[in-house]
Amino acid sequence: MDFTLSKEQLLLQKMARDYAEKFIEPIARQIDEENKIPQEIIEGLGELELFGIPFPEEYGGADAGYDGYTLVMEQISKVSGGVAMTIAAHTLGLGAIRSFGTEEQKKKYLPAGCKGKEIASFAFTEPGTGSDPKQLSSIAVKEGDYFILNGTKRFISNANYPGPMVIFAKEMESGEVTAFILEKWTEGYSISEPWEKVGHRGGILVDVYMKDIKIPAENLLGKVGQGFPILLLGIALGKIGTSTAALGATLAAYEEGVKYAREKTHRDKPIAKFQAIQLKIADLAIKYETSRWLCYRLGCLANNIKDPAQFAREAALTKAYAGDVVVEAAHIAMDVHGSYGLMKDYKVERILRDALIGPQIEGVSDMQRMIIAGAALR
Ligand SMILES: Cc1cc2nc3c(=O)[nH]c(=O)nc-3n(C[C@H](O)[C@H](O)[C@H](O)COP(=O)(O)OP(=O)(O)OC[C@H]3O[C@@H](n4cnc5c(N)ncnc54)[C@H](O)[C@@H]3O)c2cc1C
Repeated sequence: MDFTLSKEQLLLQKMARDYAEKFIEPIARQIDEENKIPQEIIEGLGELELFGIPFPEEYGGADAGYDGYTLVMEQISKVSGGVAMTIAAHTLGLGAIRSFGTEEQKKKYLPAGCKGKEIASFAFTEPGTGSDPKQLSSIAVKEGDYFILNGTKRFISNANYPGPMVIFAKEMESGEVTAFILEKWTEGYSISEPWEKVGHRGGILVDVYMKDIKIPAENLLGKVGQGFPILLLGIALGKIGTSTAALGATLAAYEEGVKYAREKTHRDKPIAKFQAIQLKIADLAIKYETSRWLCYRLGCLANNIKDPAQFAREAALTKAYAGDVVVEAAHIAMDVHGSYGLMKDYKVERILRDALIGPQIEGVSDMQRMIIAGAALR
């Protein structure tokens, strides 16, 4: 067992940190306020191959594994939850194509995605359900060499950007949930205005409307009726992104707590001298370190999945922990700041709003607990 990062991992981490601090941090508040990521940031991330970190070189990726992906995501989400969410949802969509796509599909969609020229999505949630595939109401009807898709998807990240979308619908002949690769902005595709969400702002979240969208039969992902296993593994891999988005915000809470404790003075002494503040700083450190090692471990496990059900349990456990702990950490950092923390002038205000996203996405925390309990009690 060796917990040290390799030379390559340290370099990757540094590259992401440098880019995040130099180019994203100075405009992080603007991204939050405008709910928009400037195109030059998308291009900059693409040039550094940060949209293709875990994917093999042969498909245009950086080949740095999911462990490398956790390191990058931590640094990006430390400065902007919205940018991290964009990368996470993209990697979730591309990851499903990489895991279940045919060679032709991988060659067609991964290279442009890995370079950030196209941004991927993964569309499961609907107005009627976010947790239960049996309740999906989007439908796919086979007509000759095409499937015709109709329905509405809710809260879909990155659906505004051109690129592939892995989408789930009930295939009507079999009655089974099936996955397809839909090219966004194809005829019959439209989206809502972006949702004005509390955190991860800049990460675009819209509803998607499908009206008689024609998807060529070769864009079936996996087989008819294989939607559920694709969803399970796809989402389990996706939880690396949501967990590490939470991890970066936990690190930001820790750093902002320490910084403020040192800067703010009472009777000419920093508040860091108060034992009550020291206890909060210690709690922040504990929360960050525990979340960090769970996330890094999940990244390592994802590089070599032998048993998808076991991996789904590890992903649920990590996501439940990282997603809940980030909210606790952000509250503690806010407490260290007192009333100042409530003001937009202080970063901790945004960190808390970003943190609130953690427990709710890619299955709420209780859903993760049900997966963990299911594995323990079967
Ligand atoms: C920032 C953001 C980005 C997102 N991006 C995407 C995306 O790219 N693609 C996508 O498909 N979705 C996306 N979503 C949607 C998100 O993943 C879902 O909203 C989430 O999984 C929860 O689904 P829901 O809101 O429909 O909750 P529901 O499934 O309606 O659950 C509501 C509550 O009921 C409980 N509950 C539900 N079923 C059960 C049960 N069987 N037993 C016990 N309790 C139950 C849940 O625990 C929860 O507390 C995004 C959401 C956000 C906020």
